[in-house]
Amino acid sequence: MSEKLPDITKQFAEWYQDIVHQAELADHAPVRGCMVIRPYGYALWENIKGRLDQRIKETGHQNAAFPLLIPESFLKKEAQHVEGFAPELAVVTHAGGKELEEPLVVRPTSETIIHYMYAQWLKSYRDLPILINQWANVVRWEMRPRPFLRTTEFFWQEGHTAHETQEEAHKEALLMLNEYVDLAQNWLAIPVIAGVKSEKEKFPGADKTYTFEGVMQDGKALQMGTSHLLSQNFAVSFNMTFQDRNGNLAHPFLTSWGATTRLVGAVVMVHGDQKGLILPPKIAPIQVVIVTILKKGEEQLVLDAVNRIKESLKGIRVHVDADDQKTPGAKFYHWEMKGVPLRIEIGPRDLAQNQIVATDRLGLGKKIIALDNCAQEIPALLETIQKEMFVRAQQKQQSLWHKAAKLADFGPILEQNNGIYQTGWCQQRQCEDVLREYKATTRCLLENQKTFEQCFNCNAASKGDVIVAKSY
Ligand SMILES: [Zn+2]
Repeated sequence: MSEKLPDITKQFAEWYQDIVHQAELADHAPVRGCMVIRPYGYALWENIKGRLDQRIKETGHQNAAFPLLIPESFLKKEAQHVEGFAPELAVVTHAGGKELEEPLVVRPTSETIIHYMYAQWLKSYRDLPILINQWANVVRWEMRPRPFLRTTEFFWQEGHTAHETQEEAHKEALLMLNEYVDLAQNWLAIPVIAGVKSEKEKFPGADKTYTFEGVMQDGKALQMGTSHLLSQNFAVSFNMTFQDRNGNLAHPFLTSWGATTRLVGAVVMVHGDQKGLILPPKIAPIQVVIVTILKKGEEQLVLDAVNRIKESLKGIRVHVDADDQKTPGAKFYHWEMKGVPLRIEIGPRDLAQNQIVATDRLGLGKKIIALDNCAQEIPALLETIQKEMFVRAQQKQQSLWHKAAKLADFGPILEQNNGIYQTGWCQQRQCEDVLREYKATTRCLLENQKTFEQCFNCNAASKGDVIVAKSY
């Protein structure tokens, strides 16, 4: 029997740590900052990954694999890039029993090695666009690790594309941002705020970084993924050139975009409750759990009916819990904690009436379903749960999202109670730096939105709305 979870309303961080372990999503690794993703957690990641991979391919990209080890000199070629990543790098200095002539960096991201290769492959405008994605693990040394949210090693996909024109590259960065937003909203049931990172917060070496931010239940923001329009410096540094349509030598325009195992953490933090996880049906490793209520002498009758139901639910991820050592109550508790969206109970008494009892994880209410209607009603119920989860998350997001004009007024409240604040900003760095006093940062600029006349900090005119919050 698992232990009671910490109070989600008062000890959200502890609740998170506990549920990740109790639900067997992940465990600590011997190396601090690393995690072991357990089968249930990995199945959840695979379902997220599967959908994203499908969309990556449907939008014209191909998968490839580049090496884990990158010559240290590669990272030094793009000045901002190395400066941004230097403190997080793990470097291999010895191998094969001796000191290496040139240290090798364990990839923190693969722009450098991939651009090096593109430079060799690219000859003419006819070779463009290059649209490649890689699913990989990367290492960024983490001082304050938290499972799925910040780990030294994490899994992700990184897309890297090269284009003839900046306009085309910009379109690509936006295309993938929109794919991420669709994944978050329609599959993870998480409403997100999409926008542009400030100069300070953007990816080292990017011209423009698009982000999509989720709002966690405790009112902190979580950057769920990013899509970058890279500066031409990358193409220049790696000597990427091609013959353009006029026969002149030109540099291509590049993008990169990534989403990580952090998405699993977002699903846990947005949807969970005091009983444990609540997983959106579209990505849940188990969509329906069938709990048998067995009575001596009638076991086979029940098990036969279970098999018939399972057979009729083709394409749905069903798990049968026929463990006769546990009470039904203990089983219910277990599967609620694991976040299974729909539970079906079936015993001799139900069978006598040709029906089953379906209970959803959201507490929408028990449903009696005739045995013959399971194949239609259960998929419909899963769809209802998926939609309801998004609606609830949206209501929660709205309740945590405030509009306020001046940091002096909302700063202390933000520091105390968290929350997402939409405000005006002059876009000067010195005003952004003041947010540190309240443990907050700018999360993203909302393009084309201007609600406030003035900056949140100074009296200069606002250039547009910005989202300010504490973040993970
Ligand atoms: Zn200002």
